[in-house]
Amino acid sequence: MEYKAFIIKYTEIALKGKNRGFFEQALLKQIRTKLAACAGSFQVTHTGGRVYVAGENFDFDETVSALKKVFGVTAICPAVTVMRDGNGKLPDIEALSAHAVRFLGELYPSLKTHADDTKKRTFKVECRRVDKTYPLTSMETDAYVGEKLLLAYESLKVDVHRPEILLQIELREQVNLYAETIKGPGGMPVGTSGKAVLLLSGGIDSPVAGYLTAKRGVLLEAVYFHAPPYTSERAKQKVKDLAKIIAAYTGEVRLHVVNFTDIQMYIYETCPKDELTVIMRRYMMRIAEKIALEAGAHGLVTGESIAQVASQTMQALMVTDEVVQELPVYRPVVAFDKQEIIDISEAIGAFEISTLPYEDCCTIFVAKHPVTRPRADVIRKHEELLAERIDALVAEALAGKELFCVTA
Ligand code: ATP
Ligand code: MG
Repeated sequence: MEYKAFIIKYTEIALKGKNRGFFEQALLKQIRTKLAACAGSFQVTHTGGRVYVAGENFDFDETVSALKKVFGVTAICPAVTVMRDGNGKLPDIEALSAHAVRFLGELYPSLKTHADDTKKRTFKVECRRVDKTYPLTSMETDAYVGEKLLLAYESLKVDVHRPEILLQIELREQVNLYAETIKGPGGMPVGTSGKAVLLLSGGIDSPVAGYLTAKRGVLLEAVYFHAPPYTSERAKQKVKDLAKIIAAYTGEVRLHVVNFTDIQMYIYETCPKDELTVIMRRYMMRIAEKIALEAGAHGLVTGESIAQVASQTMQALMVTDEVVQELPVYRPVVAFDKQEIIDISEAIGAFEISTLPYEDCCTIFVAKHPVTRPRADVIRKHEELLAERIDALVAEALAGKELFCVTA
């Protein structure tokens, strides 16, 4: 089948009332940007709650895979189009039926072989008559074309409730015929829901948390706390590669890399070992909030999940959040089981990178018996021991941070 076009559906955006235009424009922009990076040339237009992509000289798989990375897209339907004739007329019902017969025959070559009643494939024709001047109603068109298909292919039978094959015909500026539906990622177009800063480590959870947040239309910047020489260049590269996975959906991700070594070392030398993780996490959050406010972001995002590790009990999360003063902290995977997170990680192609064996934290900084129920008052008191140097170290870390603009 040689497709020349795609019909793109986007259910949720269509519900957005007065803001609909804003969401649709954002979606069109995302689609155009993604397609610009593909081979071929495309025309992207928008009518009646659908995006229509007409393409030339494109690679089908490459194009579909690009469209599957546009948040807001719920379905991608490869279509065959039939243009109006020289007099501006759509094909009459005979010509339309002939197109439908050819289209289904090419799409499902097995229809041409005889099948006894038990092996017949069920189908339904569904017409949308947007051009109301077309002489037949939608129902008349469905019936007529359906009849012709039954005559052409003995192996078909009608099932209007749960058809295996749903042939859709749109009578618009041109005729669109389609029967295949490729699932899109869903969600909302990137950039329609504000901005957040993701605390991105090299682990499994935070890239998934970032993906899920971006999927709701949120623009992301990322922060990675690097602790050389305890964490290697390769660990940093791994985080860049994970940012790249997210950038494939969102476009460029600004990745801030903060050197955390001196802060970590100072906490390690000064505070009780069993509180190391909690205190470190509190400093990560404080610094991330500063970066987020600077970036004009509206929230922080982490990959924490209740009870996954000692630093992720409800008490620990509460004590961690306490230091974030102005922004909400979002934890999209907070109630997910590890396996559920892994499933998403695999689906977006992050898992292989996340499981590369470069530690995102040096083992000397991981306490043997971390507190699982830290108390805020106790932690605050122990943080006071850092008073002498910590503000200067935080300022230094912020001043020396590196910025990478990561693209897919
Ligand atoms: P992940 O798989 O995302 O690393 P995790 O289960 O290993 O999560 P932790 O290492 O305790 O959990 O980290 C909890 C969250 O804190 C992470 O999901 C991430 O958002 C953030 N985080 C942890 N370490 C770093 C780091 N070095 N740089 C940036 N963010 C970090
Ligand atoms: Mg981790």
